[in-house]
Amino acid sequence: MKPIVAIVGRPNVGKSTLFNRLIGERRAIIEDQPGITRDRIYGDAQWAGRRFTVVDTGGLQSGPEGELEEAVVRQAELAIREADVVVFLVDVRQGVQPDDHEVAQRLRRARKPVILAVNKVENLKHEDAAGEFYELGLGDLVTISALHGTGTGDLLDRVVRLL
Ligand code: GDP
Ligand code: MG
Repeated sequence: MKPIVAIVGRPNVGKSTLFNRLIGERRAIIEDQPGITRDRIYGDAQWAGRRFTVVDTGGLQSGPEGELEEAVVRQAELAIREADVVVFLVDVRQGVQPDDHEVAQRLRRARKPVILAVNKVENLKHEDAAGEFYELGLGDLVTISALHGTGTGDLLDRVVRLL
């Protein structure tokens, strides 16, 4: 079986955009609004001669107050369990959010290889701001723009190194 790379993170950080870029076709639906109910979506990717399966954790459901937070964490848990490598995606424009800390804590407990990717980094101000995410305690980070494709080669280099 091919190794599995899961993309986890809060709604709207750009997971589906990154997923589509990695698999090179529009298999996942991109949503402007969080809270669309979907299962985890799988796609095939390859980089530097390595083939792997990418999982987009799209199945988030916003319900009554507080439920979204739980759904984020639950989806992340499921994806983390089946993953060989986890790409933890965060949004530089939102900054560090409580849910980011929650997911980070679970990732540390899971003892799976994690790559922290700071998305939507599209200028020098964003590059500077990305440093804030070191407080998640996951070590090194990579800055990317899933939309424009910058930094994604560096991200993939790191992914295949951990496979
Ligand atoms: P998901 O909920 O984590 O799957 O996020 P989506 O991939 O659906 O993206 C949410 C919104 O952020 C959409 O409007 C995307 O176009 C936008 N987005 C995603 N990646 C980037 C990026 O790198 N830069 C910018 N500026 N916007 C992005
Ligand atoms: Mg999505």
